Amino acid sequence: MSIVRALKCRECGSEYEIAPVHVCEFCFGPLEVVYDYDALGEGFTRELIESRPQNMWRYKELLPIEGEPTVGAEVGFTPLVRAKNLEKVLGVKELYIKNDAVCYPTLSFKDRVVSVALSKAVEFGFTTVACASTGNLAGSVAANATAAGLKSYVFIPHDLEVGKVVGAGVYDTSIVAIEGQYDDVNRLCSEIAGKYPWAFVNVNVRPFYAEGSKSYAYEIMEQLGWKAPKHVVVPMASGSLCTKVDKAIKEFVKLGLVEDAGTAIYGAQATGCSPIARSVKEGTDLIHPVKADTIAKSLAIGNPADGYYANRVMKESGGWSEDVSDQEIVDAIKLLAQTEGIFAETAGGVTLGVAKKLIEQGRIPRDESIVICVTGNGLKTLEAVQDQINPVRTIKPSLKAFDPLAEADLAANK
Ligand SMILES: *Cc1c(COP(=O)(O)O)cnc(C)c1O
Ligand SMILES: [Zn+2]
Repeated sequence: MSIVRALKCRECGSEYEIAPVHVCEFCFGPLEVVYDYDALGEGFTRELIESRPQNMWRYKELLPIEGEPTVGAEVGFTPLVRAKNLEKVLGVKELYIKNDAVCYPTLSFKDRVVSVALSKAVEFGFTTVACASTGNLAGSVAANATAAGLKSYVFIPHDLEVGKVVGAGVYDTSIVAIEGQYDDVNRLCSEIAGKYPWAFVNVNVRPFYAEGSKSYAYEIMEQLGWKAPKHVVVPMASGSLCTKVDKAIKEFVKLGLVEDAGTAIYGAQATGCSPIARSVKEGTDLIHPVKADTIAKSLAIGNPADGYYANRVMKESGGWSEDVSDQEIVDAIKLLAQTEGIFAETAGGVTLGVAKKLIEQGRIPRDESIVICVTGNGLKTLEAVQDQINPVRTIKPSLKAFDPLAEADLAANK
């Protein structure tokens, strides 16, 4: 049974019937899915959720589809790792990594939003799906669409990493690269969505798509033993994930599934594309669009659709925002790999780098629980680190060739 009530304008509050629309006719505000939580009744309990298969759909009552999911049935329920080694390095007491670098099937949290968007697109009767992508979304739409028997078009900036391009193209999608930045891609996609009868996951079905991100935070709370964390550090591109982490926590508190921990939410960006972080640091709620210049391409949205709302979430929750340079991103990728054995993409470097900075600034206390959101896999952004790893030493296939190398390491105490 679905408890979805309507789509509601976040600005003027006008309500709309469930349909593939995303902006308010009256004020052009963005639409948001709203639910009738009272209709859930007493039956939606921790025990019911725990009795279900370990994927994001164990929370299906709080996701905006009518029937059973038809796309992405196995997505989610990724590990929440207690990061003991990293705790020591950062000097904190209780640190966790929510690891969507291993989300099924395309190794980023985008599989969550795509599962909902495509399941909803099927309910609406679409047969072609599409997206404007900074990289991970393209791969996820392509993979999940092909598995669901849907046709897909993915639109990307022309200068994405090889891993992202091949990681979409292999699924026999139609990839279109745009000579411009993500914001140009997005603008074009809005025009295309107005002309072609397609479900654009982050344009006309965006209200449904965005709800998929809530599952990431539901899992964090269940995996903490039905507790909300005190501090969560979230990477931001459009700012949507940041707002949905907040919504998910509020829903679980409202439904009595967790106690209110007064969770503070912190948003992370790369300095080379930090319009949301800058607005928080400058104490304004105006987001000034920027031209992106960073290795964190998956977060490179210069004009973020949900920036204003993410800014508000950070302020109202008692969180904050920071940004890190490209070198800090690489250092953080290596730190995570060399402490916890987790290889994150550039967005993960941004998030850990920012978490480290906020801890050092004293904005995140060292003695309370902290969750760091790792949302994508490092194998898709090899370019970022390939010149900054230990040198590969090539030798002849003989002990005689290996011995001097081992002796040199021993002498150097390696
Ligand atoms: C898309 C993306 C994000 C953030 O997305 P929002 O638009 O802010 O919801 C974070 N990490 C990775 C790896 C992504 O691909
Ligand atoms: Zn409105």
